[in-house]
Amino acid sequence: MADVEARPSNFIRQIIDKDLENGKHTSVHTRFPPEPNGFLHIGHAKSICLNFGIAGDYMGTCNLRFDDTNPEKEDIDYVHSIQEDIQWLGYEWDGEVRYSSLYFDQLHGYAIELIKAGKAYVCFLNAEEMREYRGTLKEPGKNSPYRDTPVEENLALFEKMKNGEFKEGECSLRAKVDMTSPFMVMRDPVIYRIKFAHHHQTGEQWCIYPMYDFTHCISDAIEDITHSLCTLEFQDNRRIYDWVLDNISIQSRPHQYEFSRLNLEYTLMSKRKLNALVEGNHVEGWNDPRMPTIAGLRRRGYTPASVKEFCKRIGVTKQDNMVEMGMLEACIRDDLNENAPRAMAVLDPVKIIIENYEEGKVETLTAPNHPSNESMGTREVPFTREILIEREDFKEEANKKFKRLVLGKEVRLRNAYVIKAERVEKDEAGEITTIYCTYDDETLGKDPADGRKVKGVIHWVSASEGVKAEVRLYDRLFTVPNPAAEEDFTQVLNPESLVIMSNAVIEPSLANAQDHAAYQFERTGYFCRDTSAQGDLVFNRTVGLRDTWAKIEAK
Ligand code: ATP
Ligand code: MG
Repeated sequence: MADVEARPSNFIRQIIDKDLENGKHTSVHTRFPPEPNGFLHIGHAKSICLNFGIAGDYMGTCNLRFDDTNPEKEDIDYVHSIQEDIQWLGYEWDGEVRYSSLYFDQLHGYAIELIKAGKAYVCFLNAEEMREYRGTLKEPGKNSPYRDTPVEENLALFEKMKNGEFKEGECSLRAKVDMTSPFMVMRDPVIYRIKFAHHHQTGEQWCIYPMYDFTHCISDAIEDITHSLCTLEFQDNRRIYDWVLDNISIQSRPHQYEFSRLNLEYTLMSKRKLNALVEGNHVEGWNDPRMPTIAGLRRRGYTPASVKEFCKRIGVTKQDNMVEMGMLEACIRDDLNENAPRAMAVLDPVKIIIENYEEGKVETLTAPNHPSNESMGTREVPFTREILIEREDFKEEANKKFKRLVLGKEVRLRNAYVIKAERVEKDEAGEITTIYCTYDDETLGKDPADGRKVKGVIHWVSASEGVKAEVRLYDRLFTVPNPAAEEDFTQVLNPESLVIMSNAVIEPSLANAQDHAAYQFERTGYFCRDTSAQGDLVFNRTVGLRDTWAKIEAK
């Protein structure tokens, strides 16, 4: 049994504790019910961690069920990507993958039950008429003229619907509930509609498809789900969830509980809107590292542990709110600070020639992989007469705040010697092409003997031994915290969300980095290898070293 103290506490777990205590349930059975109409995003991760987390902590089980009643928008590729993402997060669903479509026969049977009980009818109002009859939040609706069709006739009409004898939109099956209900979802909702569409699981077998409100509760009951957890926008739908289960002959009686959805600043949290970014070529695809999808985060360098930690930190409540991106970034930074080996890479190189260092010599220096974790070992770093440093790490003149290389002054090369800048060479445009330096051969791993203080430390890579790489720097995808509130969110895309450093050079030990392997590139952030990107050696910046890094550097 998991450590009870370490479990998160929230209102849903309190409900479960009570249900177990008073014997309403003896075990807990949850489900994660994605619609396969896009890739999962970080909002879904919240739901996954909640459902699978509860199953794990209470020694219960959690099903994966594709809510696949909308064949036109769904795709088998999404079915696969969703499974991959859940497994990557480290969760295992109970038994086989389930589909609402597996229950189409049973659902059809329960619809007939409702018709026979005089609780459902075939309605020939078109979409516009139906809207008129439905009324508004302030005005009650009116009964459909088809509401009192006799049972036998309804059964025959529904059979005809199923046999493809009506056109799409010509009629639908509606539950007979209450056209004056204050809850719009109770005003005789449609429970079956006609769609001549190919379904990724059932092919051409059906031309009528059940609606979410009819399907979800029955699927939960068929699977003996005890606690059906969903987001707050389904709060009103709970009425119809209960109505359907109370009016059919099914034994199991699950209950729905709602929690607030995750909203994250500077991004979008809807498959439909994310799909628009993909379709409009505003991003490379669903797994673009700027996307808030689980596949995008994975490619960006997020770890399963960091995503789970984020879900733990945000908690589960009924309060709608907007979470800062910094909160997500802090989780991966904490993880990588502890677990990512250090390495050196120069993103925007300028050449240094160390004039008093032997030409052609390659010296093998040893560098620790982690400053505070010796068990992570060491690596070899080649040192040579010509090296590369970051262009921004050198200035011809600077005040004392600039703790890097300045003409006539000294700086320490990380894991190597102290060097002094003697003179520079520039091209016609005045751009520095080479910085000539000297080094102090007494300073490897120790301070200068005469007590000179050298405060600054910069990173570097051997010019001849280093390996060329492409480094991709990511920023927020949008320029405003809530792009979903814009009339057209494609107008507020951040044009600098991706900056490609195509001349980067990495230390040779990085050339064989595995896909997704994470490193801290000294002083520039956390990065991971991306073998799915086009290009030879591509590294993505997962996150900067600290939230305020850019501000500190700008001063
Ligand atoms: P989207 O609009 O992104 O498609 P959805 O709710 O329609 O979201 P589903 O595939 O139906 O997506 O969602 C599967 C489960 O994930 C549902 O239980 C849903 O409530 C939950 N979920 C979806 N978005 C979020 C979110 N932002 N935060 C928390 N849970 C979410
Ligand atoms: Mg949906």
